[in-house]
Amino acid sequence: MDFLNKLGDSIVNAGKEVTEKAKDYTDAGKLQYEISKKKSEINEKYRALGKKYYAEHMEEKDDSIVCITAAIDELHELERRLADTKGGIRCEKCGAIVPLGSSFCGKCGAKVGGMFEEEDEEDIFD
Ligand SMILES: [Zn+2]
Repeated sequence: MDFLNKLGDSIVNAGKEVTEKAKDYTDAGKLQYEISKKKSEINEKYRALGKKYYAEHMEEKDDSIVCITAAIDELHELERRLADTKGGIRCEKCGAIVPLGSSFCGKCGAKVGGMFEEEDEEDIFD
């Protein structure tokens, strides 16, 4: 009988171990999810900070600034080419494609086609 009791105990203990391991995995999964979420949050804040920093320093000759400016120029050129292929023009304020002959951008309301008045800072990539 003592043998059966011991066997019973060890089965119960093994069951507990499995349950605890499963809980650990669940906890690890939740923690991994929280970690991913936090990393995304941090990256989003870095992005916002970088965008703000860029807007304030875009005239500087720092390599990182110049590199971003070049990439933005390339982006605008690609948008202009896309607008051309679609028979429209690129809104200089928001980058949207506006049909030829329009006076205002349908997306941001900026005046297009004619003289472009510089108002607010252009939102670079949204
Ligand atoms: Zn626009």
